[in-house]
Amino acid sequence: MKVEFSERLKNLPPYLFVEIDKAKRNARQEGRDLIDLGIGDPDLPTPGHIIEKLCEASKDPKNHKYALDQGMPELRKAIAEWYKKRFQVSLNPETEILPLIGSKEGIAHMPLAFVNSGEYVLTPNPSYPPYRGSTILSGGQTQDMPLLVENNFLPDFKKIPAGLLARAKLMFLNYPNNPTGAVADKIFYQKAIDFASKHTIIIAHDAAYSEMAYDGYRPMSFLEVEGAKEVGVEFHSLSKTYNMTGWRIGWVCGNADIVAGIAKVKSNIDSGIFSAIQVAGIEALTGNQEHIQNMCALYQERRDALCEGLKALGWRVASPRATFYLWVKVPQGNDSRAFASLLLEKCDIVVTPGVGFGQYGEGYIRFALTVSKERIAEAVERIKKRL
Ligand SMILES: *Cc1c(COP(=O)(O)O)cnc(C)c1O
Repeated sequence: MKVEFSERLKNLPPYLFVEIDKAKRNARQEGRDLIDLGIGDPDLPTPGHIIEKLCEASKDPKNHKYALDQGMPELRKAIAEWYKKRFQVSLNPETEILPLIGSKEGIAHMPLAFVNSGEYVLTPNPSYPPYRGSTILSGGQTQDMPLLVENNFLPDFKKIPAGLLARAKLMFLNYPNNPTGAVADKIFYQKAIDFASKHTIIIAHDAAYSEMAYDGYRPMSFLEVEGAKEVGVEFHSLSKTYNMTGWRIGWVCGNADIVAGIAKVKSNIDSGIFSAIQVAGIEALTGNQEHIQNMCALYQERRDALCEGLKALGWRVASPRATFYLWVKVPQGNDSRAFASLLLEKCDIVVTPGVGFGQYGEGYIRFALTVSKERIAEAVERIKKRL
């Protein structure tokens, strides 16, 4: 039988990392000592007290059953309290907070709730790939919002073609930003809210990196801005904040009708987050928070090691105020994939080519600060000697 994929599956963008993945596998097989700065996954373990809580909770038989779709009331309450304390924003745990099986899960399901075929989703470019993928799977179309260095990697809403605004349903935003490391302020969020409100567009703000910031900078929540809850929701995740990428737990919060739409899609697809993981999530949000300062101090050291090291080699790099990414222009005359291949072949260094995040990422590579500062120093040394 010839298996025919659906049009929506065929419409997904091609996977652009095929060659580099293959080259990486080959290099590993040859036993080469790779320094992998390609993956946005914390290298350190989950804090011990969270693991202990999971172990304990996993032994309780009442946690072995189907979880509630809408998440444990205690988890929703812990999220509301965390939000209030961190951002001074009040959320109703019953209607304005929905736990997710990782924020990617909610992002992937959100367009199914709001986007009809032929309607548009305004998507930053470059961006975290699921915004685009989820739009296409829902039958919608993406409209790029280029993130350009001259605009501090913020979208320019005036550049969105006016003719399609009537059919634009949803806008994804993400600050602190993956892959550029850019941050947004209140003035930007206010502009986004005014624009969305004028054109009846739902805002989905992805704040996965809200706790990963440096030099004393504390990213704000989009929901702190007046009018935000009228037009949008914010996604959060325990993945990066508590080194819990594999655990799969996050949440969406904000506008109750939007939250209800996502919940309705999910109730047809999944059956909640393993309850023991929810209990551990409560521990993460309400227990000792010392880990966060230590984590930021660690990434800040690594950031400085890489920025200073590359600058000393004559590279032009801007030091990000948040996220664990360095978004660096490749030397003139290179495209991002060719330059990433060169780094792999000559230096045994893995980076992500910018074009993998969208066409406006061309000309850049992304370094993830997910190895020790000693390994970062070694990477800089290799670039100096071998490139
Ligand atoms: C890592 C990341 C997430 C987190 O995804 P989870 O599914 O919660 O692990 C969300 N958004 C962006 C932009 C990310 O880089």
